[in-house]
Amino acid sequence: MTNPLLAEWQTPFEIAPFDRIKDEDFAPALEEALAAHRAEIAAIAESSASPSFANVIEALEAAGKALDRVLGVFFTVAGADSNPAREALQRDFSPKLAAHYSEISANKALFARVAAVWVARETLDLTDEQNRVLMLTHRGFVRSGAALSGPEEARMKEIKGRLATLGTQFTQNLLADEREWFMTLSEADLDGLPGFVVDAARAAGAEKGLGGPVVTLSRSLIVPFLQFSPRRDLRERAYRAWVARGANGSDTDNRAIAAEILRLREERARLLGYDSFAQYKLETEMAREPARVRDLLLQVWDPARARAEADAQVLTAMMHADGVNGDLEPWDWHFYAEKRRKADHDLDEAALKPFLQLDRMIEAAFACANRLFGLEFRPLNVPLYHADCRAWEVIRNGQHVAVFIGDYFARGSKRSGAWCSAMRSQARFPQVQAPVVINVCNFAKGDPALLSYDDARTLFHEFGHALHQMLSDVTYESISGTSVARDFVELPSQLYEHWLEVPEVLREFATHAETGEPMPQAMLEKVLGAANFDQGFQTVEYVSSALVDLAFHDGPAPVDPMEKQAEVLAALGMPHAIGMRHATPHFAHVFAGDGYSSGYYSYMWSEVMDADAFAAFEEAGGAFDPERAEALERHILSTGGSREAEELYLAFRGRLPGVEALLKGRGLIAA
Ligand SMILES: [Zn+2]
Repeated sequence: MTNPLLAEWQTPFEIAPFDRIKDEDFAPALEEALAAHRAEIAAIAESSASPSFANVIEALEAAGKALDRVLGVFFTVAGADSNPAREALQRDFSPKLAAHYSEISANKALFARVAAVWVARETLDLTDEQNRVLMLTHRGFVRSGAALSGPEEARMKEIKGRLATLGTQFTQNLLADEREWFMTLSEADLDGLPGFVVDAARAAGAEKGLGGPVVTLSRSLIVPFLQFSPRRDLRERAYRAWVARGANGSDTDNRAIAAEILRLREERARLLGYDSFAQYKLETEMAREPARVRDLLLQVWDPARARAEADAQVLTAMMHADGVNGDLEPWDWHFYAEKRRKADHDLDEAALKPFLQLDRMIEAAFACANRLFGLEFRPLNVPLYHADCRAWEVIRNGQHVAVFIGDYFARGSKRSGAWCSAMRSQARFPQVQAPVVINVCNFAKGDPALLSYDDARTLFHEFGHALHQMLSDVTYESISGTSVARDFVELPSQLYEHWLEVPEVLREFATHAETGEPMPQAMLEKVLGAANFDQGFQTVEYVSSALVDLAFHDGPAPVDPMEKQAEVLAALGMPHAIGMRHATPHFAHVFAGDGYSSGYYSYMWSEVMDADAFAAFEEAGGAFDPERAEALERHILSTGGSREAEELYLAFRGRLPGVEALLKGRGLIAA
């Protein structure tokens, strides 16, 4: 019988046939796909024809399609719906894949052919996009160590394999810690919690097969618990468990793993001739230099810290008025900030929540994409990997554009956070392929499912990434969609969050779950007015994480990352009652893989641009200005990585943004 992962997919839009794929299909499919890719690479490297763009660069683009399919499916289910078998497969696959890609980038004959095309580029009459793909391919080889030989080459291979294994271990330890811990609540412990938190706690208890409600380490449960529970002792227990993820001193402890990762990254950068891992990493980014990153972060840090310290005084006074003496602690901040929000802004999250129905917010995200880009969404009934997943066909002017899949609910088998990935990316070469894009979130289930305002922003954020994939219009897959500089990739997603804040969007789609009434004008104004609320705290917890990430990678690797973290925070004057958004033992952005290492700053770098880019709409005809929308698609959403990020932004906006727009947007300086 043919392995369903490798057979032709005779399904609507060639979506993976999830109903026929079994866990035992993955390992043999991977072996076969790896072998096929190896054979394709060998044919390119050993060809006797003289090297050309077609027989080297295009041939590389066309190779590995079976592998893309197998991994597109595997990583989707491993992240969103894992089980012990899939976890074991992932442990087995990651060193194999690292070895496979190292083997390709260390292939001397192949690199010689790539280099030959690179040297001859001026004479090849290539299109701009072809030139770009050639430059990126060549640079990729050089950066991965293709120019190394002998013991240095062998060491590089070893380092990469080990880093892949460590990254997987880091993630799995984190998942284990998040799954392991829970705190049972008595009926009396539920006092003061709004209905949706009680429901979520009961649902979490039921999922664990327990009779009563529990608090787990799912962000969608623990954050509202910290916000609403008047029980300081329970908040402290929950908070301490939350920040101890990955640092429990047990066999899932991540601290030694983090130290080893940093050591290996530094060694890797030095082998390639860079002074530090940050120098190596930022070479391909819009920021380019560690100093430019630090400069941007510190420009934001001072006003953010000043705001947070002023807020801490207000919250401390509230706590003292409550009869609780002593210092404001990190497990107090959310609780008193929520009280203050109610007092100052009278915005009661529990009252707001019935207006933010998941289904209506999905409709809102679709409706904005329709007004801006003419996209239509038709429900699609296809078997997916979990009953909670939903699919839509995306159409424009009667033409198929993409398939969009939404997997919105939290469950134990899903890793935390929210993300967007393409099971298949857009390309026109070697044949036209339309994207299959998925958004995965961790919203609490309910009937109807209700979101916090933060959840609704997350939904728009991930949908912004999805648009970047779905509207991609390039020839080559390697530069398609979100294949852009890391500090540019959050621009489309963070920019899309702004449409949730457009009053007419909230008026139409934020309707009450029971009465169907639109959100009252007063509440709407409060929601929009509250956007700047607690931004001192939010900015401080984020920027501190970003500066620790940079300090880890800009210079010699720290022997003890926890000590380094403490040093950086002390030098910054980290406010006592605020923790880092992600402390080292659970900083998955930085340690689960290479993606955001010395790159966590990039969310803020992108926010500088998103504030400025949305202002371009406001300066023109408003949030749905058709010319601005057209320019956004033409210069940013459709272009993938076909040009330098800075050029793309300049083409859209006519200039580069400064940090002021961000500070004003967060209310950290006067507008
Ligand atoms: Zn994002």
